[in-house]
Amino acid sequence: MVQSVLEKIKQESKIWLSSPHMSGREIEFVKDAFDTNWVAPLGPHVNGFEEDLANYLNEDVHVGATNSGTAALHLALILLNIGKGDEVICQSLTFSASANPIVYQGATPIFVDSEQDTWNISPQYLETAIEERIKKGKKPKAIILVHLYGMPCKIEEILKIAAKYEVHVIEDAAEALGSTYFDRKLGTFGEIAILSFNGNKIITTSGGGAIVSKNNKYIEKARFLATQARDAAPHYEHSHIGYNYRLSNICAGIGRGQMLVLDERVEERRKIHYNYRSLLKTIPGITFQEELNGMFSNRWLTVIQLNSKATPNNITREQLRLSLEYENIESRPVWKPMHLQPVFRDALYFGEDVCENLFKNGLCLPSGSNISKDHFERVSSNILSLCS
Ligand SMILES: *Cc1c(COP(=O)(O)O)cnc(C)c1O
Repeated sequence: MVQSVLEKIKQESKIWLSSPHMSGREIEFVKDAFDTNWVAPLGPHVNGFEEDLANYLNEDVHVGATNSGTAALHLALILLNIGKGDEVICQSLTFSASANPIVYQGATPIFVDSEQDTWNISPQYLETAIEERIKKGKKPKAIILVHLYGMPCKIEEILKIAAKYEVHVIEDAAEALGSTYFDRKLGTFGEIAILSFNGNKIITTSGGGAIVSKNNKYIEKARFLATQARDAAPHYEHSHIGYNYRLSNICAGIGRGQMLVLDERVEERRKIHYNYRSLLKTIPGITFQEELNGMFSNRWLTVIQLNSKATPNNITREQLRLSLEYENIESRPVWKPMHLQPVFRDALYFGEDVCENLFKNGLCLPSGSNISKDHFERVSSNILSLCS
């Protein structure tokens, strides 16, 4: 009894990194799905959610809703005919879901280092990687760009390189819905892009994703493959291998309710980011991810770098993380680079140690748009007291 009461208090006072934040309107869409008995994969909310997303992203894109961002990325690789023997370049500093689908297709990932400003793929090492592979007679077939924590990568430079060598560009905008680059929404730059609506992302469908492209042929084919690749016939006829990757009408209903507040969520996350910034600006050795000219980040997560040579008492990333954990505050190291993961230990890597150091010194702070004032103060006073 005492144990469970203590557990309950602990749960209630826990401060999460990024938790679902409902608008209250989702339930209307979900109720409508029940009332009309569209409790099915596919249905009017799926179509509606796809339209909402396409309108939001603008640029005449088409959208196919999937049951995860990972599924969307897998479909993107299939649509670009990436398979056995092909090589695909991916930024090393990312979540494993950016790279896993390459392996699902029997292709080989090639990892590239980050640059220091945005923490995203280094244009310089990207070009080196392409040239080195061409010398070996293995021109990479595609590049997977990632906008880490919502921060746009150096899009213009990278698209130039991709065009120069004629390599497909897939944009992993899973963390970057609502971010822009020279006023154009992320998720509209790649030949194909993907989004995620997992529980901790800027908006959620409890689980879900989307594939985005200006080329409607890709999206139509993605929808076909995602519903078991069923050919037009009264019986079940198949001339392709299919997948069960579509979003359900219920989840899409949640997504429609979330789309109503997406811009508010971006504003709230950016506000949290600026609060952290003004609070921590006097602490030496702490730096942030920086928006360069034309970049606007949704600030999905606020992430700091701790240079322990400069921080007070030489506080390290791990000391701060443990101290927050002790106070029941969830924080998380930056993504561990893929080329350092045991599962990818044999993969090729081009770069130096930029992403390795970003991982070593980087900590994601609680950034949920629903963090209360009290909770934000608890996090900040903990950081300040440790770093003074
Ligand atoms: C979340 C995420 C994904 C995968 O999305 P899911 O919906 O969880 O499958 C892919 N790439 C990045 C960078 C992500 O953060």
